[in-house]
Amino acid sequence: IGTPPHPGPVTVVSSVLTQVFETDGSFVAPANGGYFDSPNPSDGSVNARVPDSDKRDVDAAAEAASRAFVGWSKTTRAERSTILLRIADLLEARIDEFAAAESKDQGKPLSLAKEVDIPRACHNFRFFATYILHMEDKKTEMDGVSLNFVQKYPVGVAGLISPWNLPLYLATWKLAPAIASGCTCILKPSEFTSVTCWMLCDIFNQAGLPRGVVNMVFGLGPKAGAALVEHPDVKLISFTGGSATGEIIYKSCAPRFKKMSLELGGKNANIIFADADFDKCLATTMASSFRNQGEICLCGSRIFVERSIYSKFLAAFKQKTEQLVVGHPSDPSTQVGALISKAHLDKVMGYVKLAQQEGGVVESGGNLVTNVVNGSGGYYMRPTILTGLTSTSRCAQEEIFGPVVVVIPFDTEAEVLEFANSTQYGLSASLWTTDLNRAIRISSSLEVGTVWVNQWMVRDLNLPFGGSKASGIGREGVPYSFDFFCDERAVMIAL
Ligand code: NAD
Repeated sequence: IGTPPHPGPVTVVSSVLTQVFETDGSFVAPANGGYFDSPNPSDGSVNARVPDSDKRDVDAAAEAASRAFVGWSKTTRAERSTILLRIADLLEARIDEFAAAESKDQGKPLSLAKEVDIPRACHNFRFFATYILHMEDKKTEMDGVSLNFVQKYPVGVAGLISPWNLPLYLATWKLAPAIASGCTCILKPSEFTSVTCWMLCDIFNQAGLPRGVVNMVFGLGPKAGAALVEHPDVKLISFTGGSATGEIIYKSCAPRFKKMSLELGGKNANIIFADADFDKCLATTMASSFRNQGEICLCGSRIFVERSIYSKFLAAFKQKTEQLVVGHPSDPSTQVGALISKAHLDKVMGYVKLAQQEGGVVESGGNLVTNVVNGSGGYYMRPTILTGLTSTSRCAQEEIFGPVVVVIPFDTEAEVLEFANSTQYGLSASLWTTDLNRAIRISSSLEVGTVWVNQWMVRDLNLPFGGSKASGIGREGVPYSFDFFCDERAVMIAL
């Protein structure tokens, strides 16, 4: 990995191909010489020129990663841990710079990038770095006949593909365990948000990560991404993104027998019972609805409220939603920034229109915000509450992935469980009740990978993270990521 050129007003993001055993690795221009514009969501200007990489760039990255694997897979856990911890320290020292770049590239409030995205990226490196120092492999003894143990070994070159909503956080959620496992990797970040991953290469270099251990190929999903999934030397694919893309990747991996981890879309339920702590529930529901412009896979976009408190909840929720400040991401008072792209904004606004066609009511929002910057640039809309829809309506079934929620009353536990489990998705749910038995009963019946009770978005990396149904396949976290990035060998010694 070479030192990136100093970013000018428009960042030139280069394909980064690390070369093993060379003293001077460098950022390499895409083989076809092409670049495309990546917009700044806050004003529609060009933020970065992103390499339009193709199969030739993936081939070169795979060659570098395969060569590096020979050495990296033989390093000790302590050696890998030391480098990962150095990466975390170096990143932490540059939080302000990375947060500013993330906010500019993605449209999220700068405060959020600074308080959540970049610190969590640092935490990813530290968490996996320290875990490998303590992990134990299984050993058994068969009554004096055989002494058995399990050896974990890295699978090889890992293909990592990440989305645009939490760019650095989700890229490092894959990079950290892949490197810690002894795999080498090729990351393809989202074409909408390449900048902070590109900046991270500089840190890898400074931390002394050997060349070729991490390679980045920037570009479009169906081109660079597909070439990565199809490459014969890439042994596994860790993908986070939409379920439709997950399906394409699943099909492409199947005949190649690649290991896969798919973290996909969601349509998560917030289930609010009348006995919940109302104020805490309201404050948390505001966050779970609209944080990061609702562009978090774990946002609760279907809010089911027990009928006896439905009117009270809706009135309070509306009032708070109307107070939210939609503004420029760099403004400290901003609570809701810009959506990722014009196309995405159009898609989300299309659901508001659809809701009205489906007989729904726009209780709050539903309109564009056009006065944030001078001129017409920027992809802003008011946080939106929809009511009057059934749980089977398209707005309550399909992932909107923006600041739009549907609020629906329910009468019984059985009914709300049916509502909650009725979508194709199964990522997470947030359940609000002070009745412990009910919390356990309902949690046990939700078809999701994560249930939060009286809270939301608490992340413990010791727990399995992933989705059920169309929300994904596999689990990541500790030790699950190591089960994925490593294979296991059982060794049995006769006594
Ligand atoms: P996306 O599926 O459009 O793209 C994700 C990544 O896949 C990008 O890097 C893209 O370039 C690449 N890609 C696209 N087509 C490809 C192909 N044919 N082959 C290989 N790679 C390809 O998703 P997005 O719009 O970037 O992200 C939003 C989606 O991600 C939402 O559905 C959201 O719920 C989901 N998401 C899930 C989680 C989770 O942990 N489950 C976390 C964040 C986001």
